[in-house]
Amino acid sequence: MMNGDKINMDIRSFTVERLKEEMAAIGEKPFRAKQIFDWLHIKQVGSIDEMTDISKALREKLKERYTLSNIEIVEKLISKQDNTRKYLFNLGNDIIIESVLMKYSYGNAVCISSQAGCRMGCKFCASTVDGLERSLTAGEMALQIYEIQKDIGERVSNVVIMGSGEPLDNYDNLIAFLRIMGEGINLGQRHITVSTCGLADRIEQLAQLKLQITLAVSLHAPNDEIRKKTMPVANKYSIERVIAAAKNYADITGRRVTYEYALIKGVNDSTDNAHELAQRLKGSLCHVNLIPVNDVKENNFIRSEEQTIKSFAGVLESCGIETTVRRKLGSDINAACGQLRKHYKDKNIPKT
Ligand code: SAH
Repeated sequence: MMNGDKINMDIRSFTVERLKEEMAAIGEKPFRAKQIFDWLHIKQVGSIDEMTDISKALREKLKERYTLSNIEIVEKLISKQDNTRKYLFNLGNDIIIESVLMKYSYGNAVCISSQAGCRMGCKFCASTVDGLERSLTAGEMALQIYEIQKDIGERVSNVVIMGSGEPLDNYDNLIAFLRIMGEGINLGQRHITVSTCGLADRIEQLAQLKLQITLAVSLHAPNDEIRKKTMPVANKYSIERVIAAAKNYADITGRRVTYEYALIKGVNDSTDNAHELAQRLKGSLCHVNLIPVNDVKENNFIRSEEQTIKSFAGVLESCGIETTVRRKLGSDINAACGQLRKHYKDKNIPKT
């Protein structure tokens, strides 16, 4: 087999069903599928040779036919303020991604990356500054959770896909990841949140799967005019279409949708903006999460004043829209989206 054929042949990215098909294709018994899956996702081994109840001959066959994703911690920062931990992982070939662990009273939540870099181009986001390096395999998404669990010696109970990357721009791998979570470490769909900048056609596709995951939509504006100023994706999908897709997701799945709204001083934070947003969302099964924007060196956006945030939230609430303001965790360790990865790359990788 040519090396190129091995792309997308990461054996850690296969669901049990897919592994059964693979076993059939190489003339092996179907029960091998679950056996291999357990080695990869329950025992979480780093190499095929560690699968001791599988014959040497089959192990050789697997090694020849598939790749096996592995990731390695290259840096770990622990916030002195609140126990938040930020991990930088190397996927191999110096492809760096980041994940964040947040400890809450209800359990451990991990924010994982779905791509190294991002091609969506949101102007306030550090992950997208250097574009997309590559999408992650399902195995690489799962490994972020496995490695953090090993590091802290505790179970992760909640996962948000809000690290770098646009998960719906890596759709097939995302779906495989979601399925593996249920089959492997028994992480229920209700404990997983997928955050998207609003790829409406993918949201429509996702709704059809009727999964129980939480959908979060990064809206960040009450209308297209303002949205286009910060989010290039707004040129492709109108805010109306994005919200319609999200409402449809809520209707089909019965799951409350979260709208994320980063408040940027003088850009999207007036009470008029809040009223316009409220009009659009009124009556739908949703929740708005207001995020005071994190400063990123590459842009000039400034977070809204405390009082402005309160007034904005007040308007939404008076219109009956459930609203929260995101607590700031780990600000001493660059815990916001893409910031640490960017910092690390700038420091370690020579500019050509
Ligand atoms: N691509 C997905 C998920 C990754 S970003 C998405 O767009 O939803 C996770 C969240 O952090 C998104 O809501 C994103 O818009 C927001 N975000 C990115 N940079 C930020 C910043 N500097 N300040 C506040 N929120 C930011």
